[in-house]
Amino acid sequence: MAKIVPEITLNDGLTLPVIGLGTYTLKGNEGANSIQSAIDSGYRLIDSAYNYENEGTVGAALRRSSVPRDQLKITSKLPGRYQEYDKAVATIQESLYRANLDYYDLYLIHWPNPKQGHYVEAWQALIDAKKWGLIRSIGVCNFLPEHIDTLVKETGVKPSVNQIELHPYFNQADQRKYHEANDIKTQSWSPLGRQMNDVLQNDNLQRIAEEHNKTISQVILRWHYQLGAVSIPKSSSRVRQLENISIFDFSLDETEMGLISGLTRPNGRLKNQDPAIYEEF
Ligand code: NAP
Repeated sequence: MAKIVPEITLNDGLTLPVIGLGTYTLKGNEGANSIQSAIDSGYRLIDSAYNYENEGTVGAALRRSSVPRDQLKITSKLPGRYQEYDKAVATIQESLYRANLDYYDLYLIHWPNPKQGHYVEAWQALIDAKKWGLIRSIGVCNFLPEHIDTLVKETGVKPSVNQIELHPYFNQADQRKYHEANDIKTQSWSPLGRQMNDVLQNDNLQRIAEEHNKTISQVILRWHYQLGAVSIPKSSSRVRQLENISIFDFSLDETEMGLISGLTRPNGRLKNQDPAIYEEF
């Protein structure tokens, strides 16, 4: 039976499950099978991006599943190379075409690319696409507070979501505080560290996991949930997909939360992608 994942409400009224499925690297028929398996297991939020080249895979998985479209929340993202207004509008339409969808629930600017100076134009395109009914909720990824302040100053419209790198070795305390103060929901990308660091073998996390009779992944995803962040762990395996949403029958106390947050490191980013400098196209 499908598990039930609780929901939160964004600043524009859209509701989102507190855990979604990441889909980076899930492509083609095999990818569609994994995404369909996640939907069957209870996932209702699916994260994708134009640059993952899998919007078609996501669309196919939705059509294979027995869950009606209006019960699913589908995300995609605008790549850096298409931030100029006309290109952004065309890309949103192409994203929809690739997935064979009439609308995305959430559409995000993938990276601010501040040196290029086009992210406000891109934001205006998302604002307009929302007015035209192509997107239900608009947000950003990897935006620093100064970038979000610029969006609001130039357009008067605040993102509903900022999807950022967030895992125990990089807890983003200041960025999360800014989101909270501005009613912007934090989404955590690479919530499990993408197996690029040793967080899933961490001794402290192992002790907490044993205490609760859970796995380290479950402890980490519970930590995201209790921080108030929406996490989007990617798994191709049904067993791990189910494991990752089975976190609503235990809770971490303040000491445990503090211990996990205390694992953060100044250079804890997985690939040193500082949005002030790093650019992705
Ligand atoms: P992640 O979700 O932290 O980790 C995924 C890796 O962990 C996969 O290798 C997966 O392997 C493994 N895994 C999943 N559940 C597990 C479990 N319970 N036990 C052990 N291993 C487990 O990393 P991610 O894919 O980088 O991040 C999640 C999503 O965030 C992406 O897929 C993408 O949608 C999004 N993202 C966004 C940005 C952005 O700039 N906005 C950047 C990066 C990622 P299996 O598949 O074999 O289970």
